[in-house]
Amino acid sequence: MNHEQSRDLYDRALSVMPGGVNSSVRAIQPYPFFVQKGDGGHVVDADGNRYVDFVMGYGPLLLGHDLPEQVQAAIQQRASEGPMYGAPTEVEVELAEFVTRHVPGVEMVRFVNSGTEATVSAVRLARGYTGRDKIVVMQGGYHGAQESTLVEGHGEHTHPSSPGIPESFAEHTLTVPFNDTEAVERVFEEHGEDIAAVLTEPILGNYGIVHPVEGYHEQLRQLCDEHGSLLIFDEVITGFRVGGLQCAQGKFGIDPDITTFGKIVGGGFPVGAIGGKSEIIEQFTPAGEVFQSGTFSGHPVTMAAGLETLRYAAENDVYDHVNELGERMRSGIADILEDQAPQYTVVGTDSMFKVIFTREGEFGEGHCEAGCTQNPTCPRYEHCPKNGMDVKQAETERWERLFWPAMKEQGVFLTPNQFESQFLSAAHTDTDIETALEAYKDAL
Ligand code: PMP
Repeated sequence: MNHEQSRDLYDRALSVMPGGVNSSVRAIQPYPFFVQKGDGGHVVDADGNRYVDFVMGYGPLLLGHDLPEQVQAAIQQRASEGPMYGAPTEVEVELAEFVTRHVPGVEMVRFVNSGTEATVSAVRLARGYTGRDKIVVMQGGYHGAQESTLVEGHGEHTHPSSPGIPESFAEHTLTVPFNDTEAVERVFEEHGEDIAAVLTEPILGNYGIVHPVEGYHEQLRQLCDEHGSLLIFDEVITGFRVGGLQCAQGKFGIDPDITTFGKIVGGGFPVGAIGGKSEIIEQFTPAGEVFQSGTFSGHPVTMAAGLETLRYAAENDVYDHVNELGERMRSGIADILEDQAPQYTVVGTDSMFKVIFTREGEFGEGHCEAGCTQNPTCPRYEHCPKNGMDVKQAETERWERLFWPAMKEQGVFLTPNQFESQFLSAAHTDTDIETALEAYKDAL
C-alpha cells in the first residue's frame, strides 16, 4: 500500500497539533492513515487505500458511513435551517422521549456534547444528590478525560494518572478490580457512608471486552442500596449497541440510578447524555441546584441525527444484522485461534469483538467458544479475562507492533491497541466478514 499522502499530512499535522492529532489514541506510529471518506462499512484513506472499518468512529456509527435516506434528510434539513439557536427545539424533546421510552432506568435525560461531559456531570450530580464526595470506579474502566476518574492505584491508594490533576481529586476516588466481589464489599465496609456513587461500565469496553461475572452487578446494586449510594452505569459504548434499544442495563436486568450515554445516541455527531430517575436528574439546574449547562447541548443537528438513527434501528432489523455479524466474526476468529494460536482469546458480545493476546497458561490454554464468549455456561469460561489487569498482562506490545500493522496492510482497520473494542455496523456485509477473517488468519 502506498501511504505518501498520509505521511505528508502527518508531517504537517505534527507542526500544528500536539502529536499531530486531536485525540491521543489516533497517533499511530510511525504515522496514522488520514481518512478521505467513509463508504458503507469501509473507509478510504488519502492515498486511495480502502479498509474494512471495524473502528466505526470508536463506536458511534451503528449504521456505518452511508446513512440511510431518512437519517441524511433529517440532518440536512436541520443544518439548512441554521446550525443552532440557544433556545429549545422540538427535536430535543423527541429524542429525550425516545430514550426514556426504551431505556429501563431512564425517566429523564439531559443532553451534553461528549461522553466525558456526561460522566463529569453524572459524578457532580451524584455528589450533589447524596452530599458525599467519594466515588468508586473499576480498575481498567474508562470514563473519558476527566479529573475524578483518571486515577491509578488500588482501593484508597489512588493518585492521578495524568500530570495536571491535583492529588486531591484522587483522594475522593476509590478503585476496585472489576468483578472482584470481595474488594467492593471491603470498600463499602470501610467507606460506605462517604460513597456518593459506584461508576462502572456494564461491560468494560475500553480494556478488552470484559463481562461481569454472574451476580456482580446485582451485588453493586445491593451495596449501593444498603449504603445510600447511587449506581451509575456508563453506557457511552454499550448504550444502544449491547442489548439493542434497551441498552446493557435492559439486557442484564439492572436498574442503575444514573446512566451516561454518548456515541450512538448522537448518530455520529458530538454528544453525551445523563439519564436516570426523575428525582435525581431533576437535581440539575434549573430544576435543581447542581450546576449543569452548555452552549451546544442538545444541538439540533446532533439531536436529529441521533433520533433518526435510533428510529431507523427500531424500524429495521439493524440489531439482528449487526449481532449476527458479531457472532460470525467471533466464531470465525475462534476457529482460527483454535488452529493457529490457542493461547489467545476472542471476546465480545452483540456487535462488539476483540482478540486478546492472552499468554499461554494464564487463563488455562483455551479461548471461549463461539457465541458464548464470557458466558458463565461456556465450558471455557474460566479462561476468559475477568478484569482490566487480565487484559493488561496480555501480549499488548506484540498486538500493536505486529498484528495491527499486518491487519492494516491487508485492508482491515482495527482500533490500534489491545484495549479498545472493534465494532460492527449495519453497513457491514458478509463479504466484509470473509475479508476480515482471511486477514485474521494471515496476521495471526
Ligand atoms: N465513557 C466510556 C465508557 C467511553 O468509552 C468513553 C469514550 N470512549 C467515554 C466515556 C468518553 O467519551 P468521549 O470520548 O465522547 O468524551
